[in-house]
Amino acid sequence: MTATLLDGAAIARQIREEVRAEVGALASRGIRPGLGVVLVGDHAPSEAYVRSKTRACDELGVYHEMARLPAVATTDEVVGLVAAYNQRGDIHGILVQLPLPPAVDAERVLGLVDPAKDVDGFHPVNVGLLVQKRPRFVACTPMGIMELLRRHGIPLAGRRAVVVGRSDIVGKPMALLMLHADATVTIAHSRTRDLPAVTREADVLVAAIGKAGFIGREHVKPGAVVIDVGMNRIEDPVQAGRLLDDLRKDGFRRKGYALVGDVRFPEVREVASAITPVPGGVGPLTIAALMKNTVRAAALRT
Ligand code: NAP
Repeated sequence: MTATLLDGAAIARQIREEVRAEVGALASRGIRPGLGVVLVGDHAPSEAYVRSKTRACDELGVYHEMARLPAVATTDEVVGLVAAYNQRGDIHGILVQLPLPPAVDAERVLGLVDPAKDVDGFHPVNVGLLVQKRPRFVACTPMGIMELLRRHGIPLAGRRAVVVGRSDIVGKPMALLMLHADATVTIAHSRTRDLPAVTREADVLVAAIGKAGFIGREHVKPGAVVIDVGMNRIEDPVQAGRLLDDLRKDGFRRKGYALVGDVRFPEVREVASAITPVPGGVGPLTIAALMKNTVRAAALRT
């Protein structure tokens, strides 16, 4: 079997077109959604993520601005930026780009974002609403994955879902969303015993680990749907040989690096029924979900 590719980029384009229509509807009422970004330090991947997000804002007509602080910033300084965005009527969504430098108390910062502007869905109030199946703002990556599953007609009710990873931003909200869609959900993590036996139970397997090519053929039940959240940069040619298909190996030779997921794509593709590629799978959906949440925040304010 060769798995169908779940084209996250295509679904993300659909979602963005829907968001564009909503931006148009708000514009006719004189409202322009606004996103305030807080970026602290000079972590190169964070700068790249913020660029992708603000580019999406530009494409869709969403206002954005960025407040920056150096890596030596204090928690109080970061809190000050968040507090200023909380007060602004033209800023409907606030995005604090993670990770914050270790000296900044991320929990305190995220806890001070106005829950009505918490478009990342990290505030305890929004997490609590999700737990109670009354979602308002849901973390963007799991929200995007649910759209991908729904729009591909992949059923969850009554099926076994396994999420590997229990982070607050991916694993836990992902598990809750699939539970609320009536899947029977298992969350696995670094202390799980006999992980392959657990993951082989899955009809739908979500890998959110952060380890290049960690999930292999032995972890996957034949015919399962595999969602690869991982985003890892590899520079080792041996690893590239194992994790990339022939087409991408050429790119690796040219650039000297490649982005790969947590799943050994070439071998898992042979057993799964459907799989998300990296790049082009979950990543674009995350940004589309952020746009959806930002426009929703603006609509809820009116
Ligand atoms: P994280 O906070 O580091 O969490 C990783 C999780 O994986 C933890 O729960 C950890 O378990 C678990 N884990 C680590 N080693 C394991 C092992 N050997 N066996 C089983 N579980 C193991 O990471 P994250 O923020 O959730 O992100 C996960 C990945 O997704 C990263 O590659 C990240 O870059 C990517 N990501 C992509 C997007 C996107 O838009 N595409 C968005 C967000 C994240 P413990 O809890 O026991 O330590």
